[in-house]
Amino acid sequence: MAVATAEDFLSEADRQRVSAAIRAAETRTSGEIRVHLEDHIEDDVLDHAAFVFEELDMHKTKDRNGVLIYVSVSDRKVAVIGDKGINERVPENFWNDVLGVLRSHFAAGTRADGICEAVAMVGEKLVAFHPHQRDDRDELSNDVSIGTR
Ligand code: CA
Ligand code: CA
Repeated sequence: MAVATAEDFLSEADRQRVSAAIRAAETRTSGEIRVHLEDHIEDDVLDHAAFVFEELDMHKTKDRNGVLIYVSVSDRKVAVIGDKGINERVPENFWNDVLGVLRSHFAAGTRADGICEAVAMVGEKLVAFHPHQRDDRDELSNDVSIGTR
């Protein structure tokens, strides 16, 4: 079934699951993961995700280690974008397997599973570069954010 709006993409229970997955991933890394959903975009998804990244103030973490999982739901466009502290140190196709997992779950209709799995994968990837610190702070909200574009 096609889902046209970001609001309907995940149920309230699914959003709680995603928040819990982010919280769990962030117990292993100092990196900050966010999930942002929008209805529809015209622009290139990676360019747009970079714009949203700044709009959500994700470039303001201490170690520049935020990662955004962006989904434009009606056109099924997905992007994963990391801040400087990550993207400068990883190969260009570093997030491709995460995108693949998102796309195959969306095609199968298991949207929340796909996002939770993607969050866990991003967390695993971050551990190598940004292990959890004893004085870690939760710098960015773990709640799914929804745009109205
Ligand atoms: Ca943190
Ligand atoms: Ca967080």
